[in-house]
Amino acid sequence: MQTFNCDLHYHSPYAAACSKNITIPLLAQEARKKGLDILTTADILHPVWLNHVKENLIEENDCFRYKEIIEGKKIYFLLGTEVETEGRVHHLLYFKNFKHIEEFKKEIKNFCQDMSVYGSGRTKLKTTAENLLNLCKKLEIIIAPAHVFTPYFGIFAHFNSLKEAYGKNWEYVKFIELGLSADTKIANTIPELKNIKFFSFSDSHSPLSYRIGREYISLEMERANFSSFKDLLENKKGKLLYNVGYNPREGKYGLTACSKCYQHYTLKQAIENKWKCSVCKKSIKKGVLERAEEMAALQGNSSLKQITKRPDYKYLMPLAQVIQIAINQKNINHKKVIEIYDKFIEKYTEIETMQSIPFEKLKEIDENIAKYIISFRKDLVVFHPGGGGNYGTPFIFFTKEEKEKKEKEINENLYLKDLQKKLF
Ligand SMILES: [Zn+2]
Ligand SMILES: [Zn+2]
Repeated sequence: MQTFNCDLHYHSPYAAACSKNITIPLLAQEARKKGLDILTTADILHPVWLNHVKENLIEENDCFRYKEIIEGKKIYFLLGTEVETEGRVHHLLYFKNFKHIEEFKKEIKNFCQDMSVYGSGRTKLKTTAENLLNLCKKLEIIIAPAHVFTPYFGIFAHFNSLKEAYGKNWEYVKFIELGLSADTKIANTIPELKNIKFFSFSDSHSPLSYRIGREYISLEMERANFSSFKDLLENKKGKLLYNVGYNPREGKYGLTACSKCYQHYTLKQAIENKWKCSVCKKSIKKGVLERAEEMAALQGNSSLKQITKRPDYKYLMPLAQVIQIAINQKNINHKKVIEIYDKFIEKYTEIETMQSIPFEKLKEIDENIAKYIISFRKDLVVFHPGGGGNYGTPFIFFTKEEKEKKEKEINENLYLKDLQKKLF
């Protein structure tokens, strides 16, 4: 068995609103810097991207990897994509090999969107979630709902359960993607998900290291390939060690809020306001916390108790963001941020830098940044929560007193119920 850090959801330049600079070589480089072992090809149904993928990957002992070895490291890829079914529901799919993809393409021929259209990397299928699941089951394709709680394209924005969405074969689904605004604690209040694994991926639209791998999972698997991933999902061999990702307070859809001015609302206030913001009159979007709470209650867990024991969920902030906060720089892509970032990455991966290298070593590179990293590890972080499509804002402190003062100030302006406070 081996341990792999995996980010299995992001996009190519051929999905809507994604960076034009994304390439497989760049992704592999960034994965090396980050400390990731397995990526996905993303958007594999797109014909131009598929050719690019084929040019850059080689098949070696039943695994796909980037053709070059980067500083002694092999970067593996699972062939996969995100697709959208009717009613704006997003799903992640993974395929065994290129032949497997062709089999799928043949089956979806009559309801697949025109692949020359802008944005078709995240492919739209004119069919239901249930039909797609049944097709995946027939062809033994791995399928899982993406960012399940998010208000526009998450499965739970449109359905009250996996069973309602996927129909009688719903248990073919073995995992859900939590999305940036949810963590294990929030999703583990929903009874139906008891035997479903929770994974965290970046859903990045950019190849840069503060996006790729901003959420990932650490897996123990036999090999870096589809079959081993399937074995893990079916509880045959391998396991999820832990999730790493954003604090849900940092996610864009953490709490219910206005989609324009980001004013927070309780669910009750939003309903009373008929989902129109009283400040700017734009629409209010339901937060992930409130949606999960609603679903837990619908399924008989209104006390929001934890349903089962789960692997740890470790909070992480991208190194570039920590540097940005430490040097008080507005732009995360500023050359000063990148300069400092590169100094750390010359010696360690980003995951090592953020999670395990001792202060004494980090301080040799940059003492100020090292202090902020240690504060982050000690959880001296407070967030002004996100919502309505706006990321939360983090603040990092050096003492518990400073942290608690800020926390109090922020929480006084939020209307969280006691039960919600346990989760958020
Ligand atoms: Zn999506
Ligand atoms: Zn507003």
